[in-house]
Amino acid sequence: MVITAPLDHSSRVTPDLHRSRDGARIDVRHVSHRFAIRGEGLPVLEDISLSVEPGEFVALLGPSGCGKSTLLRLVAGLDKPTQGSVQANGLPIDGPDPSRVVVFQDPTLFPWRTVRDNVGLGPEAQRTSRIRPGNKESKVGERVDAALELVGLSKFADAFPHQLSGGMAQRAALARALVNDPQLLVLDEPFGKLDSLTRIRMQGELVRLWQAARYSVLLVTHDVEEALYLANRVIVFSGRPARIVAEVRNDAPYPRHRDDPKLVALRREVLGQLGMDV
Ligand code: ADP
Ligand code: MG
Repeated sequence: MVITAPLDHSSRVTPDLHRSRDGARIDVRHVSHRFAIRGEGLPVLEDISLSVEPGEFVALLGPSGCGKSTLLRLVAGLDKPTQGSVQANGLPIDGPDPSRVVVFQDPTLFPWRTVRDNVGLGPEAQRTSRIRPGNKESKVGERVDAALELVGLSKFADAFPHQLSGGMAQRAALARALVNDPQLLVLDEPFGKLDSLTRIRMQGELVRLWQAARYSVLLVTHDVEEALYLANRVIVFSGRPARIVAEVRNDAPYPRHRDDPKLVALRREVLGQLGMDV
C-alpha cells in the first residue's frame, strides 16, 4: 500500500528543534577541479569563488553536467578540490561533518527501517560513537519526533519507505537532515524527481522550514523558477567546465508568489544569462 494522504500544515505550529547555533558561513575561493579519466584530465570547475552568508539561501543554477554536484561535494567535504580552498566559518573543510548535511535527489532511506528509525540514524550514530556523550536516548527520541512534526510526517513515523509517496520520502530525508541541527543544508536537486504539483508544495515547505530556522542553504538546481522562488541569491554557471557567468540578487519578500512581476523579470534576466531568449 502506498500512503498518499494529503498533508495539512495549515493549523500546525512549527515545533522547536532546540536550535543552538547560527547558520554557517561558506567561502569557496578560486576553486578549480578536474577528474582524471583514462589518463586525461576532465576540467569540471574553473576558478569558482563564491560565499554563502550565515542564514542565506543561495541557489546554484546551471546546465546538466556542468559541475554543480561536484561543487556541492567539495562543500560537503566529500571530496577535495584540485586547486583552491573551501572553508566553513573560516576553517578549511577537510571532511564530512554533521553540521553540514546533504539531501540528494534520491532520498536514500533504508528500506528495512521505519521512517522514525531512518530519521533517528544521525543522532543514533552520534550516540553509539560517543561523539556526544550527553545525547541520551530520550533526548534523541524528542528530536526525532520534533523533526517528523516539522516536515508533517508524525502520523507516518512507523511506516516503511515503500509505503511513502515520493514527496513523503523526500520529507523523511529532510527530517533526517534537520534532526542533526545543521548549520548548513546542502540540497542537490532535491525535488528533481517529484511530480510538478508535489514539487511546488515541497518548495513552499522548504521556505517555511528555512524561515523557522537559521541555517544557511546551498541548493543546486537546473530549474530557473525553483531557484528564483527559493533563493536570496542565484549564481549562474556556464556549461562544463563551470564558470560563474552571473549572480542575481533576489530581494522579493517571503512567502513569494510565483507570478510576482519581480520574479518574472528576474527569470528573463537569468535565462538571458544562460543564452536563452524569452
Ligand atoms: P552536474 O551536477 O552539474 O550535472 P556533475 O558535477 O555531476 O554535474 O558532473 C560534472 C562532470 O564531471 C560530468 O561530466 C561528470 O560526468 C563528471 N564527473 C562527475 N563525477 C565524476 C567522477 N567521480 N569521476 C569522473 N568524472 C566525474
Ligand atoms: Mg548533479
